[in-house]
Amino acid sequence: MKLILLGPPGAGKGTQAKRLYDRHKLVQLSTGDMLRAEVASGSELGKEAKRVMEAGQLVSDEIVINIIDKRIDAPDCKSGFVLDGFPRTEKQAIALDEMLTRKGGKIDGVIELAVDEDALVERISGRFACAKCGAGYHDKFQRPKKEGVCDVCGSTEFTRRKDDNAETVKARLKAYHEQTAPILPYYRKKGLLQRVDGMADPDAVTQEIERVLSRIRP
Ligand code: AMP
Repeated sequence: MKLILLGPPGAGKGTQAKRLYDRHKLVQLSTGDMLRAEVASGSELGKEAKRVMEAGQLVSDEIVINIIDKRIDAPDCKSGFVLDGFPRTEKQAIALDEMLTRKGGKIDGVIELAVDEDALVERISGRFACAKCGAGYHDKFQRPKKEGVCDVCGSTEFTRRKDDNAETVKARLKAYHEQTAPILPYYRKKGLLQRVDGMADPDAVTQEIERVLSRIRP
């Protein structure tokens, strides 16, 4: 099964994508994670992406389309994947369809996580993650069970994304409205779009996604 999770930053795409892997072994393809890995590696591409990401803008279509085109050929994607943060523009959506047709596949469903935007700045600016295993936490909504220690791997090192500050979040939301939200009708017309309430508790969102999946299984 090939899925897309759509929604503004902070809607819970990453959290739900990880759960889709745990439950269904759908590989999480996060262009944001892939770009952050490029930035960390210090590559030329990473240097170019860093500036754009820290400004809360979108990296060029060409770069992300190339990254995804190569990534979905990897063996771990054969049994299915969930795209988290891609496509983000109409050009990317069209390129995705073209590349899947070329490779003999198609998108089975698009899940929109609908959220109340007033809550997003608070949701995003409190996020942090374990520096070792990547488990996600939040200052207010999900603190580690033992203060300062990762519940999953026991590490005491945590990181915060540089672009998770109030000012950059506003730019990221603007980019979502101007460039990403216009692709919702593209998928609605194809009969692929399913709306889920992303404001619910994360477990309730997972349950709702499971209900959607039972209807769209290929
Ligand atoms: P995310 O982790 O999905 O919130 O992405 C973090 C940042 O990476 C975004 O604000 C963009 O600058 C960049 N990015 C991630 N995915 C894409 C994409 N599909 N197209 C353009 N830029 C992207």
